Amino acid sequence: MGKYIGSSCRLCRREGEKLFLKGSRCSTHRCAVDRRAYAPGQHGSSQRVKLSNYGIQLREKQKVKRIYGLYEKQFRNYFAKAVRHKGVTGTILLQFLERRLDNVIFQLGFCTSRKQARQLVGHGYVYVNDQRVNIPSFLVKENDEIVLKFKKKGVETIKENIKVTKERNAPSWMEVDYAHFKGKINRLPQREDINFPVNEQLIVELYSR
Ligand code: SF4
Repeated sequence: MGKYIGSSCRLCRREGEKLFLKGSRCSTHRCAVDRRAYAPGQHGSSQRVKLSNYGIQLREKQKVKRIYGLYEKQFRNYFAKAVRHKGVTGTILLQFLERRLDNVIFQLGFCTSRKQARQLVGHGYVYVNDQRVNIPSFLVKENDEIVLKFKKKGVETIKENIKVTKERNAPSWMEVDYAHFKGKINRLPQREDINFPVNEQLIVELYSR
């Protein structure tokens, strides 16, 4: 399973939507989706294909997968887990994705992108309930307390990130204490907490084929 090392903007262009994969750089640079509003590749600008049902479902799945920065196998595992779980499969799937520790660090505003948050977790700067957790896929639960601990250099980077992200406010299912680099999970995320347009039913239909 290879790591994607291509351009993040290319992924947005493929989905035809701004997925904000580059964090703060998405607002400071001219977005590629605005500059070239067609699919990437040699024939991208000439292709105007009407998508089949399958194509629409596939694009929705790819979009969500890319937003959370997951590989197909990881994404499918979340889906399989959601199917086994009691409740509406699509909602449970999104709930699992939102509960990932890298997403939580991003949503708290300590990082400007999920990719950056994943690095922060991977490098061992994140503690959950006083235990160091360096697994980005770790799923947070209600009442978990999250703290960032690092040396001086790291502090400056996080402060800069907070300046950029402060305006977007953390979702209501968590609370944040920027002064102490802390966060708390008040409750599990609900469907209405998902803050980007997604039709998860299309993903359920795709995997149920
Ligand atoms: Fe996507 Fe950001 Fe690149 Fe725009 S600038 S295409 S939103 S990654």
